[in-house]
This record gives sequence, C-alpha cells and structure tokens, in this order.
Amino acid sequence: MEVKTTASGDAYVLELRKEKVSVAKRLVGTLWIALGIACFIIAVILFTTIIGIIPAAFICLCAIGCIYLGMAKQKVTCPNCDRTMTVLQRTRKWKCTACKRLALINWIDK
Ligand SMILES: [Zn+2]
Repeated sequence: MEVKTTASGDAYVLELRKEKVSVAKRLVGTLWIALGIACFIIAVILFTTIIGIIPAAFICLCAIGCIYLGMAKQKVTCPNCDRTMTVLQRTRKWKCTACKRLALINWIDK
C-alpha cells in the first residue's frame, strides 16, 4: 500500500473514514461529557473558596478524564511501525507514541 507523505516528507498523510458511532455509544459519550462539564463547574466553585484548591485540582483532572472518555475515538494503524493506536475522531495531527512519527489525518465523513 502506498503511503502519502507531506511534500517535505516529515509527516504522513492519512485518509481515514470516520467509523459510525452507534446511538447508544453516542448517548454514553454525551453523558460522560456532561459529567465532565459538571465536574469542571464544581472545581471552579471549589477553587474560589481557596481552601478547596487541592480537591478542585483533583476534580479538574477527573473532568478532563470524563470528557476524554466521552469523545469518539477510533483505531489507527501507524504506516511506519504498523502498530495500532486509538485516536480521537477530532484529531487532525497525530504523533505515533511508539515510533514518534507525525501523521496528519484527513477524516472522510460518510
Ligand atoms: Zn509508529
């Protein structure tokens, strides 16, 4: 299979078809994101109380985790080292964690 690279050859250009996400999965994702946003609001309120800064920082991390869980992800195989990784479906620039090669992702909707 021929792999496209950028003109400079520094990065791969991947054309990926977006995988369909089932309604149930999308609903669960939305709930995670809602939970994440709720955690953020709680963290901001705690932060303003000064005493709550440490738990606020912890809740903030939980919020980021929840939002990450809620985002649509997809498996991608690195064209350089052939390892399969999970990337967010919004990602346009991705660095393979195994071989550190950069890839630009063009998402094809359909
Ligand atoms: Zn790789």
